[in-house]
Amino acid sequence: MNMKTIGVIGAGQMGNGIAQVCAAAELDVVLRDLSEEALEKALATISTNLDRSIKSGKLEAKKKQEILAHIYTSTDIGALVGCDFIIEAATESIDIKQCILAELESVIAHDAIVATNTSSVSITRLGATLKNPDRMVGMHFFNPVPVMPLVEIIRGVRTTDSVFRAATTLAVKIGKTPIAVKNSPGFVVNRILVPMINEAVFVLQDGLANAEEIDAGMKLGANHPIGPLALADLIGIDVCLAVMEVLYRDFHDSKYRPARLLREMVDAGQLGRKSGKGFYEYGQMPVV
Ligand code: NAD
Repeated sequence: MNMKTIGVIGAGQMGNGIAQVCAAAELDVVLRDLSEEALEKALATISTNLDRSIKSGKLEAKKKQEILAHIYTSTDIGALVGCDFIIEAATESIDIKQCILAELESVIAHDAIVATNTSSVSITRLGATLKNPDRMVGMHFFNPVPVMPLVEIIRGVRTTDSVFRAATTLAVKIGKTPIAVKNSPGFVVNRILVPMINEAVFVLQDGLANAEEIDAGMKLGANHPIGPLALADLIGIDVCLAVMEVLYRDFHDSKYRPARLLREMVDAGQLGRKSGKGFYEYGQMPVV
């Protein structure tokens, strides 16, 4: 398949990073969001990211304008008409995503591929929204997209081999390392990672050790680059709770029950770095 123009729907945290890495691989990008404001913010974020890469010597200064010139922004879904491959990275809501997919299919070519970056919605279920579910595939990027090398390529029940291969090829082309995954709640990484974080919260809630000791234990004893509680603060404690709720609901297995303390922290608005306070107070000592 000739992949030249990539559509990205949603210009938030993930969408702007996906647009950046595609443009850096010399692909044309059509980035769509609902407001000009969101699109301007995305371009400003990409510009700042590129400046940082120039400063650290990872990017030649003259490349910045070349990369930005590959990105066309629009609030109109019709702008995606010529895209060969579209990656949906809009707000995590099944209703929003289903509306986008229905709208999208009425404007794109019959052989264009549709990927979704959803963290928690079933790829098979989203695919069923399309008249042609065979063209749906999951491409689960990690945050921040320009930095994190992994993309999980997720096969829904109807995803064809050629669509799966095209998504894998695109991931490699934009400098990522793909892993092949079957559709299942949490896919691979979140299914392993978030229950581990949840277990660390149980350990804290049971008073076995304090946050710093738990994190030091996993860094020094398991060779993790960051402790599970510091990582929860980075990901967002609300996001960790949402992932555990999806795993618990979909598997009906008590091993996925969210720790009470996780829920209490969300209720208290202690969401981690983004709220200034989580298991740590930024950038000070543990608060729990
Ligand atoms: P975000 O809230 O930063 O951005 C979402 C964007 O989608 C917003 O700019 C919003 O205006 C836009 N949007 C909403 N409806 C739209 C529509 N109809 N058309 C076009 N744009 C629309 O969210 P995010 O963190 O970038 O997450 C996006 C997706 O990526 C979600 O599915 C999320 O689960 C997934 N994801 C997030 C992370 C993460 O760490 N944040 C990691 C992997 C996957």
